[in-house]
Amino acid sequence: MLQVLNPATEELVATVPAATAADVDAAVARATAAQRGWAAAAPADRARLLRRFAAVVDEHVEELARLEVTEAGHTLGNARWEAGNVRDLLDFAAGGVERLNGRQIPVAGGLDVTILEPLGVVGVIAPWNFPMPIAAWATAPALAAGNAVLLKPAETTPLTALRLAELALEAGLPEGLFQVLPGTGPVAGNALVEHPGIAKIVFTGSTRVGKSIMAKCADQVKRLTLELGGKSPNIVFADADIEAAAAAAPMAFLDNSGQDCCARTRILVERSAYDRFLELLTPAIEEIVVGDPLDERTQMGPLISRAQLDRVRSYVTEDLQGIRGKAPEGPGFWFPPTVLTGVPEDAPCAVEEVFGPVAVVLPFDDEADAIRLANATEYGLSGSIWTRDVGRALRASRAVRAGNLSVNSHSSVRYWTPFGGYRQSGLGRELGPDALTAFTETKNVFISTEA
Ligand code: NAD
Repeated sequence: MLQVLNPATEELVATVPAATAADVDAAVARATAAQRGWAAAAPADRARLLRRFAAVVDEHVEELARLEVTEAGHTLGNARWEAGNVRDLLDFAAGGVERLNGRQIPVAGGLDVTILEPLGVVGVIAPWNFPMPIAAWATAPALAAGNAVLLKPAETTPLTALRLAELALEAGLPEGLFQVLPGTGPVAGNALVEHPGIAKIVFTGSTRVGKSIMAKCADQVKRLTLELGGKSPNIVFADADIEAAAAAAPMAFLDNSGQDCCARTRILVERSAYDRFLELLTPAIEEIVVGDPLDERTQMGPLISRAQLDRVRSYVTEDLQGIRGKAPEGPGFWFPPTVLTGVPEDAPCAVEEVFGPVAVVLPFDDEADAIRLANATEYGLSGSIWTRDVGRALRASRAVRAGNLSVNSHSSVRYWTPFGGYRQSGLGRELGPDALTAFTETKNVFISTEA
């Protein structure tokens, strides 16, 4: 049984049966049968059903959002955005069904065409930090491209996923096409990875688990997309609008209590602007409203679990100095917004993913030094560059080895632009114009005109 706790109160919200390997087996059989009919259906019919699914999600945004607040501790505003994001992803993917075009390539003596075929059954293994959007990032395009989906949500956050599966049936999606298998990683997750009836795994989670899944997928040359950790830089050059950069820096690492793979937790500031930046950052951090996620004024909620709280605490040792915000006392997994200063460049808190409301500020000397520092982790997911110099913005954008950069902004994720990591932040891309293609095989067919 999985126990779902409300992270803001530690109250037990639900117990959910955990899927076994036999459950995964049975689900794969149902999905395989459903996928045949789905792939054979007219594209316009698949698109219409996905749009209907989007419409049903839209009718339940508030309910889904409140469920997310209860099981994940997200602020209500964020949770509403997340439920709406599922709707938008389904709509966007539905628009791709009739545009999943192959190519016609010039050849002598015939006609050469490529056909984009669905893979079959796709296994999606999701983390707890953005349970709804991350599940939908893979599920929506995979379904649109003609696949069936088996989704395993994280142990701590199965409720929104289970509700989405009910809504899919309500919208008229065929039985078995989209199934949710709550369960543990080593049992249900591993069963998806090892099952020969699953053609592709989309895994979002820690780099450690992602590496082990990649090794297991190699046995069957199973297709794989990995969205892993991050330790993203927020580079502030002295020529930037320092007020704007300091005002934006807190929520760039505190959103979702820092449990965001794109969190800008390494704030790199040009030495000549360092003191001014900290002077502006200090009150901004101290004023962040941390508390009841259902209160509309709240900017930051709790961490997901006791284990995550312990992990975050282990990085913020007594000897470290910096800026500390406020957090509630008492039940709930609370940790205050924290910015550490004066730490060595290679300190664990400066290079490892904390996955909590903790950032470091490090000074740099010039552009080359900024790029060196920005790239000085094993990750490469996101990053921000603050400068008024267009040439510098472009040079830095080219030089930072990460998949998602923003200039004078911290935005990373739009469903219609590609998302994914360099280096140990991942493999493959999700979202964007090619989202559906990632769930297809390209078949090349030559038809002779000489016979
Ligand atoms: P995690 O790796 O512990 O778990 C992620 C999922 O994998 C869960 O569903 C879990 O049950 C499952 N799992 C665990 N062990 C497994 C195994 N042996 N076989 C199959 N499945 C297994 O990660 P987490 O703690 O849930 O999530 C936090 C991590 O996710 C962070 O490191 C964060 O950066 C990363 N993340 C990355 C992105 C991205 O897009 N790059 C997005 C969100 C989170």
